[in-house]
Amino acid sequence: MLAIDGGAPVRNRDWPRWPPAADDAQHALLREVVDGGDWGSTSGRRCDEFTSAFAARHGCAHGVAVANGTLALFAALHAVGVRPGDEVVVPGYTFVACASSVLLLGATPVIADVDPDHLHLTAATVEPALTARTRAVMAVHLAGSPAPMDELAALARRKGLAVVEDAAQAHGAGYRGRPVGCLGDVATFSFQSSKAMTAGEGGIVTTADGAVADAAWSVCNLGRVRGGAWYHHAELGWNLRMTELQAALLLPWLDRLDAEIDRREDFARRLSDSLAGLPVRVVADPAGTDRDTRHLLMLRLDEDVHKPWVVRAMAAEGVPVDAGYPGLGRLTPVAERAVVLPTPAVDRAGASVVWLRQNVLMAGPDGVRDVLAALERVLTDPRATSGTGGA
Ligand SMILES: *Cc1c(COP(=O)(O)O)cnc(C)c1O
Repeated sequence: MLAIDGGAPVRNRDWPRWPPAADDAQHALLREVVDGGDWGSTSGRRCDEFTSAFAARHGCAHGVAVANGTLALFAALHAVGVRPGDEVVVPGYTFVACASSVLLLGATPVIADVDPDHLHLTAATVEPALTARTRAVMAVHLAGSPAPMDELAALARRKGLAVVEDAAQAHGAGYRGRPVGCLGDVATFSFQSSKAMTAGEGGIVTTADGAVADAAWSVCNLGRVRGGAWYHHAELGWNLRMTELQAALLLPWLDRLDAEIDRREDFARRLSDSLAGLPVRVVADPAGTDRDTRHLLMLRLDEDVHKPWVVRAMAAEGVPVDAGYPGLGRLTPVAERAVVLPTPAVDRAGASVVWLRQNVLMAGPDGVRDVLAALERVLTDPRATSGTGGA
C-alpha cells in the first residue's frame, strides 16, 4: 500500500541536512574572525581573500563580494551598463530574482522561452525577444547546468549586448573547458542557504574585466572609488557588502566543493541509469557541459503524468520532490511589470518538471535506492496517469 493511502513509507529516515554543520576549518576561521573583532570587510581581510580565491576558481581576475545573489545580479547588471528603460532578456523558467533584480534597476525584464530539452535560453529563444532597447541577456545556469554560452555570446556580440551569467546555482560548474563565471561579461553567484556553497546569505560578482569589476565594487560601496577617499562618492551607490563572518564560512568551502559535486554527480548518474521503464527521465545537460554542479536534479515527468498527485504521493513516501518554478510569467508582480513573450516550453516545464533537492542528492547510494523505490511505487500506481488523482 502506498504511504499516501496509509502504508509504510519507503523512507522513514532523515535526509542529509543542508547546509551541513560547519567543519573544523570553518569553525577555526569563524572563531578567528569573531575573536579578532574585524567583522566587516572594511577592516578585515577574509572577504578579500575569499573573493580572490573564488574568482580564481572560476577563471576570473576579479570578484566583488556582496550581501546576496539578488543584489549581485543588481550590481552586475548595473556594472555592464543596464540603466532605467533598458530591456534585459531573461529565461522564463528560473527564480524570481532574475526578474526582480532587473526591475530594481528600473529596467524591464523580457521573459523569453527556453529550449524544451534543457530548459536554457538559446540563441533561438533570445532572438524574438530582442528590441532596440535590449541591453543585456541573462543566461541562467539552471540547477547547476551551464547554459549554451557559445551561441548566446555569439548572438550578444553580433547585437552589441552584454551577457550576464546567473550562476547562483552553478558554483564549480564547467563548460567547454572553462569554468562558469567567466563565460560572459560578468557573472553572479549566490551563497543563500540552499546553494552549493553557503553562508546562510551572500553573493559574489565575478568578471575578467577590470572596469566592470570597479563599477560593481563602486555600486556596492556607496559609489566610492576603489582606493579613493572614504567620503568621496563619485556615483550613486549603496552598501551591499558581505561580512567577514560570511567569508569565514565560505573560504574553506572551496576546498570541498569539488568532492561534493562529485558525490551529487554520482547520485544523478546512478538514478538516471535506473529510470528505464518509468514515465520520468532526468533533464539532460546540453552539449558542451563539462561539469554540472547538481545543485538540483530536475526530473521530467511524461506528459500524461499527474504532477500534483505525484508530488503529494512522493512526500508521503518520505522522498520529497519539489514542484519547482511555475514560470516567471505566472508571477503576478513580475508579469505586471515585465514583457512576457509566449513561453510554451516554460509552461510545459512548469506542468511536468519536478526537482530532487541538493540534500537528497548528497545521500549516496542508499538515497538513490529510496528515490527509485518511491518513484517506482508512485509512478506505477494508476492514479499517476489516469487523471483521477484529484487536484
Ligand atoms: C538563489 C538564486 C538567486 C538569488 O540569490 P539570493 O542569494 O537568494 O538573493 C538568483 N538566481 C537564481 C537562479 C537563484 O537560484
